[in-house]
Amino acid sequence: MKHIDDIQKELKAKDYKMTPQRKIIIDFFLKHPEKHLSAEDVFLEVKKINPDIGLATVYRTLELLADLEILKKMNFDDGKFRYEFSNEEEHHHLICLGCDEVIEFENEVLESLANVIAQKHGFKVVDHQLKFYGYCKNCTQKGKDYI
Ligand SMILES: [Zn+2]
Ligand SMILES: [Zn+2]
Repeated sequence: MKHIDDIQKELKAKDYKMTPQRKIIIDFFLKHPEKHLSAEDVFLEVKKINPDIGLATVYRTLELLADLEILKKMNFDDGKFRYEFSNEEEHHHLICLGCDEVIEFENEVLESLANVIAQKHGFKVVDHQLKFYGYCKNCTQKGKDYI
């Protein structure tokens, strides 16, 4: 589990300061590690803590943290980017088209399959992400329209 001090060190090593706004935003991620947060999600919550933080600041901060590889920027094709800490365990995502829920999963068979495919093509994989689109348990139970 990451601590704010670790991130402060990472910022410092790259010549960036931990400003109060950055701290609030990073704290928010630390408190919601399981979530895949968009700039809007972050903005709605952090402005309750500090009403001076604007959406533009949140966008800029998230871009910076992604550039510094502290956060990972992800596109789940739902019209917004989402962010999570970049050094999480290797995991993949199930994305619900009904309620936007994102479920994480890990699977060793998938990892070894990825290795087999890479080897077969003499390809050096540096990153990979698998996304399954569909409907979560809640959504399929609620309405049969999806099935
Ligand atoms: Zn759902
Ligand atoms: Zn994730």
